[in-house]
Amino acid sequence: MVSSKTNKKKNDVIKFSKMLNDKKLSALRSGNISVRHNNGFLITPSGKKYSSLKVKDIVFVSLDGKYEKKYKPSSEWRFHQDIYIKKKDAQAIVHTHSTNATALSVHKKPIPAFHYMVALAGGNDIKCAKYATYGTRELSKNILKALNNRKACLIANHGQIVFDKNLPDAFELAQEVENLSLQYITALKLGKPKILSLKEMNKVIKKAKNYKRD
Ligand SMILES: [Zn+2]
Repeated sequence: MVSSKTNKKKNDVIKFSKMLNDKKLSALRSGNISVRHNNGFLITPSGKKYSSLKVKDIVFVSLDGKYEKKYKPSSEWRFHQDIYIKKKDAQAIVHTHSTNATALSVHKKPIPAFHYMVALAGGNDIKCAKYATYGTRELSKNILKALNNRKACLIANHGQIVFDKNLPDAFELAQEVENLSLQYITALKLGKPKILSLKEMNKVIKKAKNYKRD
């Protein structure tokens, strides 16, 4: 029998998946969301529109990559699996093809410290993971490299991915990455932006770690 705790988590995944559309982070069925659960994670299914998601559609995948045959997790479940294995503090993952983050990812450039809010991702820049075919182990490896000491990164020619200690925080961070991407693109139109020093960013990173939500 499925526990009410499991159902609550599945409902949270559905709630935030629908918000991907509402908040314009991902259109139709692109992107995916998961939360850590028992010895694995609960993830959005493959190829379903978020607007039609039901509790029974959310798939449990174990940390060793097993799931019931009748279910089909998102085709990108492998990088969720690898992040949960490698990042012990990851409790939720949001991956989107949001427009501005994707636009930047096509240029394979990190987002530098043009704004102090970049520190929310954990460092003095937001890196861009090297391109590999979606759903492959190679892409997982590239993403984990870009997530070294970070909670968010761009993925070349693809989009962005973030993890955090719970789903609301991960979702907010994905929104922030999208917002920073738009601001950075806008700033670039006016010329070369002024970048904050490493010393200043280290100060902000320290503050951001103690930052509590109101
Ligand atoms: Zn994707």
